[in-house]
Amino acid sequence: MARFVWGTLQLLLVVAGVLVVAVYVSRFLPPVSPEKRQEATTVSPSQKPARRAKTDAKPTASAGEQTAEAVQEPQGVPLATGAGGVLSASAGLAVTSKEVDAGSPSARLVALTFDAGSSAEPVPQILRALAQRGIRCTFFLTGQWIERYPDAARQIAEAGHELGNHSWSHPAFTSLTDEQIREQLRRTEEVALRVCGRSTKPLFRPPFGARDERVRSVAAEEGYLTIYWTIDSWDSVKKDITPQMITDRVMRLMRPGAIVLMHCGSEATAQALPLLLNALDAQGYRVVTVSELLRSGNGR
Ligand SMILES: [Zn+2]
Repeated sequence: MARFVWGTLQLLLVVAGVLVVAVYVSRFLPPVSPEKRQEATTVSPSQKPARRAKTDAKPTASAGEQTAEAVQEPQGVPLATGAGGVLSASAGLAVTSKEVDAGSPSARLVALTFDAGSSAEPVPQILRALAQRGIRCTFFLTGQWIERYPDAARQIAEAGHELGNHSWSHPAFTSLTDEQIREQLRRTEEVALRVCGRSTKPLFRPPFGARDERVRSVAAEEGYLTIYWTIDSWDSVKKDITPQMITDRVMRLMRPGAIVLMHCGSEATAQALPLLLNALDAQGYRVVTVSELLRSGNGR
């Protein structure tokens, strides 16, 4: 009998113990686990923004990086609205007085540039050759040329090519005063806006390539980046140059990031273009505007 009572007590103790444990578990464990879950969900997002905030802080901390980002942004958007609501293909390009004669060598990109100061006769043929391949280039026009050949200037702009400033009357800027340089750039910008409805900013090609630190600084103050070249096609300096000679010379000197100097007034250049574009294509080069070239790989 005593053994039975003792056995029952033991059983009751075990049951009571189980109940106490069950109550303990039901009272304390359930509230604990949601808290833990809450922690788990609140901790990770609060860590993530903290991490994001760190990476966000980087660009704001360094103005240079922010500029690089801003410069990269317009890529793939050929026509952006520049200052004053004027359509400019070059919006977003940083203007400095630094020498620019090529883009980044990291991609097989090349910019063909056409300076206009003399004849406009080859222009339709040049535009046809570029249009056939859907290529857009950069045309540096003098103000006097735009006034003399407004239709050709408009055709260049309407075909979607990029316009640059090549001075008003093609003097060597190194022999001009600061004020004369400003006047040359401003008059050309004015006539480009009036005739083509497009700005020439921020690209300037110095006539004869005559430039120095002072010329580049004054040009930069006027909103222009001075663009020299990597390869002179010799289409304006070598008499009786043939389309094949132009193509051979340019391809011999070709390298990624090159800026090629050519001229709107050269019949040989107009005839060379289909050959040259074939050769560039065969070597995996893509032809882009100067501003596209300089934006890629954050150029300079
Ligand atoms: Zn020129």
